[in-house]
Amino acid sequence: MIQLSGVTKEFSSEHGKVLALDDVSLEIKRNEKFGIIGESGSGKSTLLRLINGLETVDTGTVTVANKDVTALKGKAMREFRKNISMIFQQFNLLNNITVEENILLPLKLHRYESPLDIEEVLSFTGLSQKRQSYPRELSGGQKQRVGIARALITNPDILLCDEPTSALDERTTDEIVEVLKNAHEVYGMTIVIVTHELEVIKKLADRTLVLEAGKVMNTIKVKKQESVVSKLSYYDRIKEVF
Ligand code: ATP
Ligand code: MG
Repeated sequence: MIQLSGVTKEFSSEHGKVLALDDVSLEIKRNEKFGIIGESGSGKSTLLRLINGLETVDTGTVTVANKDVTALKGKAMREFRKNISMIFQQFNLLNNITVEENILLPLKLHRYESPLDIEEVLSFTGLSQKRQSYPRELSGGQKQRVGIARALITNPDILLCDEPTSALDERTTDEIVEVLKNAHEVYGMTIVIVTHELEVIKKLADRTLVLEAGKVMNTIKVKKQESVVSKLSYYDRIKEVF
């Protein structure tokens, strides 16, 4: 489904050159939940952005659904991107429009072959009561649910997640992981999740790639954990410590 082969990417800035990705090769299978973990600056976001053509390679190839992404331009690139949705750490919602309008935005901008129904997506993400609210009226977890709903409405083949839980507390992180797992089960897309949080990888990913300073250290099969949402509440767990 997604293949990178010998990918190198360098950035130049006033501080000199940075080798963001150094000879990266990987293969992600259709319908897999694939993690990319590494410290800040290890090249995770750059790797993710290469997959949907937001970033170009210096050397190597990126192939997604049998298409050479590095060769796509103009209309072909726009068509290709319609199969891929993305969610972000800071949610990237528009603040001056409602939850429902945010979710429907992709459908306003492009024609999609088989978009999902708005009622279904609202109910799936638990936002039916919030459809007329504005982003400022929502908690972080609710905002990320809107981000997920907006990603799902186009019915994508691939969902790219860049640190989707890094702005959230532990319990809300578990909730968002659960929504992503359910989305995968119900809609069956390939998920690529970038994070520095080991717990998120353990709970969500089938396999994970470990990046260090732009290099692939390892690709690991993730041992599954039983329950995602802890049985104890946040405050119960605090009481356990003190
Ligand atoms: P974080 O966890 O902090 O988000 P990351 O693993 O996502 O980090 P990247 O954003 O991929 O890391 O960046 C990898 C390296 O490339 C860093 O050293 C970063 O400073 C550099 N870099 C990324 N984008 C650019 C850019 N547009 N211009 C210059 N340097 C960049
Ligand atoms: Mg990043």
